[in-house]
Amino acid sequence: METILFLAHTEADGGLAKATLEALEAARALGGVLIAGLVGASVEAAANSIAGCGASKILGVAGEAFGESRYSTDAAAAEAIAQAANATVIVAAHTSRWARALPGVAQRLGAAVDTHVAALSADLKATRWYYRQRIEGVIERAARPRVILLDSGCAPAYAGAPGAAAVELVNVEITPALQRTRVIGKQAPKAEQQTIRPDAAILFVAGAGWTKKQKDGQTHVADAGKLILDFIGSANSSLGSSKSLVDLSGEGQAVLPFLSHLNQVGQTGSTPRHPKGLATCCHGEEPHVVGWRFIKERRAVNLDANCGWARGKADVLYVADAFAVIAKVNELLKAKS
Ligand SMILES: Cc1cc2nc3c(=O)[nH]c(=O)nc-3n(C[C@H](O)[C@H](O)[C@H](O)COP(=O)(O)OP(=O)(O)OC[C@H]3O[C@@H](n4cnc5c(N)ncnc54)[C@H](O)[C@@H]3O)c2cc1C
Repeated sequence: METILFLAHTEADGGLAKATLEALEAARALGGVLIAGLVGASVEAAANSIAGCGASKILGVAGEAFGESRYSTDAAAAEAIAQAANATVIVAAHTSRWARALPGVAQRLGAAVDTHVAALSADLKATRWYYRQRIEGVIERAARPRVILLDSGCAPAYAGAPGAAAVELVNVEITPALQRTRVIGKQAPKAEQQTIRPDAAILFVAGAGWTKKQKDGQTHVADAGKLILDFIGSANSSLGSSKSLVDLSGEGQAVLPFLSHLNQVGQTGSTPRHPKGLATCCHGEEPHVVGWRFIKERRAVNLDANCGWARGKADVLYVADAFAVIAKVNELLKAKS
């Protein structure tokens, strides 16, 4: 029987992220003996939140040095927990923190590692995408230990009731070498300026049409910016963009200052996962729409009834002026709140 270690790091508030709870649910579905391993400044709150998950024990590495994302301390903590658990399979969320540390931990443990896993079956077949989501591969491995990093949005999140959990602390000695990298502060946009929200229920995509001349022969970029930000603020949606729109700044045209290449969805952009998507002023060309692979319900607003979305790429196409549609939607959202 496999010994499954669910490995998690805490967030700044001491809790566990949604992606982490998804990895826990995936680990639970594997059967075998489940052990939870937690890393953080303090791990009690996180342990209590998963008290009912069915783990035979909860191991923890706790202390100020483990509160921040840092390769040396994260790797040392994960290695110590994996050894204490004597795990044959280690399942963790593909957070930026674990994606950086766990492949190195696998090397130390003599383990195999699978990253960006999108599905995991009970017999440990791991599915992942290759070549920008064009080829789906299924990986089977006899090698143990085996580390599996699960992408977010691929499993339901664990939602058991909290309780009182006992944590077995595992000691990791903080040597000077582990602390060679020091976290002296953080620079991050304010939460409301952070427009990429992987957990949002809706992806709102803005296309280049927002900056093009409209029926009065003028551009209305400032109005466009306000309409878009009002929508993503009140609908709490994630903001995606077409390549043409984010490229405009390089071409000296009027641009929407809150968009960067990180917002770009598509073949050379991202492939986000959201239950719903709404494309506005975006033509729906193939290199853009391949980035919509994991958007379950798709709608688009375009003036052109022959745009790409009309060709089987959207469930619903509204042939309409997006300026008018989004202004009305924002009005309705405001009235609702
Ligand atoms: C190798 C390669 C890789 C690429 N990778 C990507 C990628 O990753 N992501 C990506 O997005 N693109 C990518 N592209 C580019 C892609 O092919 C398209 O050029 C791009 O998606 C077009 O962007 P757009 O639809 O915003 O702009 P446009 O094609 O300019 O379309 C603007 C649309 O806005 C509509 N519109 C204008 N005003 C209004 C209004 N008031 N109301 C409603 N609709 C309105 C117009 O009818 C038009 O359909 C790639 C291309 C290549 C060759």
